[in-house]
Amino acid sequence: MKCNACEQIYVESTGDYHFKSSGLDNAYIEDVRLIKCGCGVGLKIKAMGSVLDQLGNAVINKPGPLSGQEIRYLRKNAGLSAREFARLLEVNHTTLSKWENGRAPGRASDLLIRFVYAAWKEYQHPKRIFDSFKQARKQKKRNIGIKLIPAAGEGFEVEYAAVDNHE
Ligand SMILES: [Zn+2]
Repeated sequence: MKCNACEQIYVESTGDYHFKSSGLDNAYIEDVRLIKCGCGVGLKIKAMGSVLDQLGNAVINKPGPLSGQEIRYLRKNAGLSAREFARLLEVNHTTLSKWENGRAPGRASDLLIRFVYAAWKEYQHPKRIFDSFKQARKQKKRNIGIKLIPAAGEGFEVEYAAVDNHE
């Protein structure tokens, strides 16, 4: 197979992938099919929408405060504009913009963001969010890595780990 962009032949392999293209610098997928060409390394995944949704579920169950990138990720994966998401959260869109750019939303808003996303995406296990959020109370650090690890079937297991900023 040839890449349409660089016209090089793809090289396929299996490995771990730093899933920055999701918009999350702290997202990783382990043991996944990769394609390499002149453009760089990319994921070879058919059901990308499902992977992005599973990553969204991992974000709303993160045992730590949401980061700006994660808030933006949830909004975008819900298919909402900043204005629409702000309206659902009962804040004005400048407030939302500050959150997406790194200002901590505070605990009540952090929880609400998760639940608005869950409602919008019809997430099947909303009660889990409470348990995850309880852990978030102890964890002050926002830079927690989210690792998707292939499980039986099409799903992923999620592993959270402290991220080294320097990489
Ligand atoms: Zn290419």
